[in-house]
Amino acid sequence: MAGSPQELPLHVRVEDFAVRDDELLVGGRSLTDIVGLAGKTPAYVYSRELIDRRIRRLRAALPAAVHLHYAMKANPMPAVVQHISPRVDGLDVASAGELRVAIAAGADPERVSFAGPGKTVDDLTSAVAAGIVVNVESETELHRLVAIGSARGVRPRVAIRVNPDFELKASGMKMAGGPKQFGIDAERVPGVLRQLGSLDVDFQGFHVFSGSQNLRADAIIEAQTKSVALVTALSRDAPCPPRFVNIGGGFGIPYFPGEQPLDLAPIGTHLHGLVQIAARDLPGATLVVELGRYLVGEAGIYIARIIDRKVSRGRVFLVTDGGLHHHLAASGNFGQVLRKNYPVLIGNRVTGESREVATVVGPLCTPLDLLADNMEMARAEIGDLIVVFQSGAYGLTASPLAFLSHPPPAELLL
Ligand SMILES: *Cc1c(COP(=O)(O)O)cnc(C)c1O
Repeated sequence: MAGSPQELPLHVRVEDFAVRDDELLVGGRSLTDIVGLAGKTPAYVYSRELIDRRIRRLRAALPAAVHLHYAMKANPMPAVVQHISPRVDGLDVASAGELRVAIAAGADPERVSFAGPGKTVDDLTSAVAAGIVVNVESETELHRLVAIGSARGVRPRVAIRVNPDFELKASGMKMAGGPKQFGIDAERVPGVLRQLGSLDVDFQGFHVFSGSQNLRADAIIEAQTKSVALVTALSRDAPCPPRFVNIGGGFGIPYFPGEQPLDLAPIGTHLHGLVQIAARDLPGATLVVELGRYLVGEAGIYIARIIDRKVSRGRVFLVTDGGLHHHLAASGNFGQVLRKNYPVLIGNRVTGESREVATVVGPLCTPLDLLADNMEMARAEIGDLIVVFQSGAYGLTASPLAFLSHPPPAELLL
């Protein structure tokens, strides 16, 4: 029996997660089998099939000339990185630890870049030894890199990360415009570029990342246009033409009621035009888009088991073995201003025999440990399984696992 769309929470598509005998299926497997395979609850489960579907959809919408990179910090599970690496054009790492996972996954160092403020001499040494591109975030970092290159007798591959003079409007997280710890302020970049010619580095291009979690195609399009225009102006002072221009990403996914999925079609159409503009103004440069959550966020779920069912002064609490320590974002404490519920349901009773409003909490001694607040769902019993959707990005590795010393969750790629 296939499920109907209204049986699944908002934004969770039946074609992505089917339902059989009122139980959720991931990649054709029942939740009960998945938990059996994981060996325990709580567990994060990611679907290869859903990741592939997402990449295919992106490839169909974006021009073939635009390179697609995976920003690993969204989900650095080695099996996930290994799966995605051959399906994209490059990996973006944000630490030397991620770099090692990327290399172990078989990524071509030519196609790996390293962004992030505060790179230490050890971080930069790892990057130079691997032969990847370093997106330089400050003048200090550039000189550190030059010293490492000269000591090793190699020319480090560098790109300049620019803090642009604009921001990505309507973003969940703004990472550019105004004073920021990321990148070199656009107005300082020409001076840095003029120095580059006399330094022993291999200039590769530019990186402009203006924000994250954006659901508005028009805002993304505007930032992409401005990024290419800014890089075109900056390139006049570069020691050689840029080979790569990373125009950022920011493609968001819908988490909450009222949010609509990002419309890829206008972004694709616009990028076709931008590729033409870049061919004229930035000859020889490949445009790169770097995406994290858009590739993996909707391909993962978090499963927790109900340990207790309590009614406190008329309110139903479902107490689970999982919570904030594994899934900070779903608890509403990962940068959200107003807490809203992620899509949540009872995975082994999708429709259920009766419905109720319940609050799903974790085992931590803090009222912050909330997975669903006053949400309508099937009436659940002890032993049932809670499923939190949109959990493939910024889940396990973005959570305070050690908080309260509970065991870590299982993690599976199916
Ligand atoms: C975090 C980050 C990303 C990924 O952001 P998503 O919202 O997951 O797509 C990409 N690039 C840079 C530089 C980042 O810091």
